[in-house]
Amino acid sequence: MTKILVIEDEQAIRLNLLKLLSAEGFETLGADNGDYGVELAQNEKPDLIICDILMPGLDGYGVLIALQQDLITATIPFIFLTANVDCSDVRHGMKLGADDYLTKPFTKAELLETITVRLQKQMLLRERYNLELKRTEALMEYLLRYDRLTNLPNRFLLQERFNQLVEKTDTTSQQIAILSLGLEQINQLNHTLGPASGDVLLQAVAERLLSRVGTQNTVTQVSGDQFVILLAKTERQEIAKMAKTLLDAFSFPFHLGTHEILLTAKIGIAVFGYDGRDLNTLIKHASAAREETKQPGKQPYQFYISAIGAKSEDALLLEMQLRQALERQEFQLYYQPKVNLLTGQIEGAEALVRWLHPERGLVSPAEFIPLAEKTGLILPLGEWVLRAACKQVRVWQEAGFPPLRVAVNLSGHQFNQPNLAPLVMKILNETGLDPSCLELELTESTLMKNPQAAIATLHELKSFGIRISIDDFGTGYSSLSYLTQFPFDVLKIDRSFVCQLVEDDKNTAITTAILQMARSLNLKVVAEGVETPGQLAFLQGQQCDEIQGYWFSPPLSADTFKEFLSTGKRLPLSNSEL
Ligand code: C2E
Ligand code: MG
Ligand code: MG
Repeated sequence: MTKILVIEDEQAIRLNLLKLLSAEGFETLGADNGDYGVELAQNEKPDLIICDILMPGLDGYGVLIALQQDLITATIPFIFLTANVDCSDVRHGMKLGADDYLTKPFTKAELLETITVRLQKQMLLRERYNLELKRTEALMEYLLRYDRLTNLPNRFLLQERFNQLVEKTDTTSQQIAILSLGLEQINQLNHTLGPASGDVLLQAVAERLLSRVGTQNTVTQVSGDQFVILLAKTERQEIAKMAKTLLDAFSFPFHLGTHEILLTAKIGIAVFGYDGRDLNTLIKHASAAREETKQPGKQPYQFYISAIGAKSEDALLLEMQLRQALERQEFQLYYQPKVNLLTGQIEGAEALVRWLHPERGLVSPAEFIPLAEKTGLILPLGEWVLRAACKQVRVWQEAGFPPLRVAVNLSGHQFNQPNLAPLVMKILNETGLDPSCLELELTESTLMKNPQAAIATLHELKSFGIRISIDDFGTGYSSLSYLTQFPFDVLKIDRSFVCQLVEDDKNTAITTAILQMARSLNLKVVAEGVETPGQLAFLQGQQCDEIQGYWFSPPLSADTFKEFLSTGKRLPLSNSEL
């Protein structure tokens, strides 16, 4: 039912309006002063607001200004009432963002007409907005899942299809296999023929592979000279047969203008469940098997033969050491500055955990966080990270540096632990850090484990004043419109798009689409992994809000970060300053 809010101090007029609108089938709300009107608008989110201009206390203009501050109330159609036929009143109201006005006294017909026109216009706007969102989404779906040169599915789509297959696998006789197909001369050829001819050759290769793999299987190019083929459930003999079929595809030459080019293909094979259970491991093992084909006397295709014993011992050792690392205080936090592109100032930092392993030196979180997740150690480790980061930022604030915001990453288990919000609040209280100085970074996969619970937790955290950002955006699998349900403040564009910006028009298109979408959702955008002035200039041109990356600074130890702050280094604001 359409909900209309009437803000009018004169009781007779207000009651009259409310009665009339109810009789027309609208749900109605009344406020007898401006402040209460704003409160009702924020809480009830009506579909339309009718508001008197002249009121004691907060007047109609004041109401309008207050409503403009909030993304949701700002878009509610606003009709104001004026007794003054003087058009300066009207002009002022419209300038502040009102949609229409009624001059008192007005007839019922005038009132209903004005309301209907506004509601229809609003509906059109909403439809157009949804359409735009859908279009951006469709474009992104394509850009995110396919390679534009070869039209082959990309790594993300490969991962999705792999996940789907794994979920459906039940029988043991049918196997999922990963084939790594390498073309030895292709990098060299690319060099001698030039990139344009190299591209044509790649397209021809892709076509040949596609014509042979069959529709239930997936071909992806994972690097310049390596293709990966995902074989849906087949028998072991069938896998070998497929490998031969694919090798056959290279038994006759490619014609490129006047050139005849013969490529040599080699294939390595890894089987799900035997040679690994996750895609990366399987690809790694398939590539290792492909290396084996280079040994004298070997077939041009090889199954992976694992050195399982040695590997699992190593993993067990690392797991044990990880357990002790917390007690032994082997973890450290590094801080990577985030800079505002408008002001050039450091706004905050992302806290990134490091493990100073007694023998191995610095171990990357990409290696030990998954292990910590698996073993449950992530809970105490995550708590330590959060406390250490809050404490550190508080120290910098007390040392007199401008207010900094610290971003802390939360992984799946951590975010989904019961009582996360109270724990975060407890840490903020203990360390004395203002909640508005804390930002929590989450990835799509973390939220998708239990979306309803995630939404509730996010609202709770946000109600404290904590900022929420979605990390590595673009690498997940969920749809854009689905994501809009989650109350984020910030969207971080994944490094994989940023690193190819400028050179690769596909990533440029994705980044532009993400920025447009984020703007329409009123999200701040942070680009991760900015490494070159070209990328920076592009992002500045696209009104990206913040950047983070080696170009400005790598992650720094707490001491170095403090020195860095002391130098007052800021970002050059325009191309000419670069
Ligand atoms: P992330 O949250 O996306 O963090 C950004 C990563 O990009 C960091 O890697 C950072 O060092 C790296 N990076 C920043 N600028 C550049 C650049 O210009 N070029 C390149 N090539 N890389 C850049 P790092 O520190 O290895 O962390 C990897 C991931 O580990 C993080 O990705 C985050 O997901 C996770 N992680 C790190 N610390 C924590 C933590 O305390 N808790 C949890 N749960 N996860 C963490
Ligand atoms: Mg992060
Ligand atoms: Mg990230």
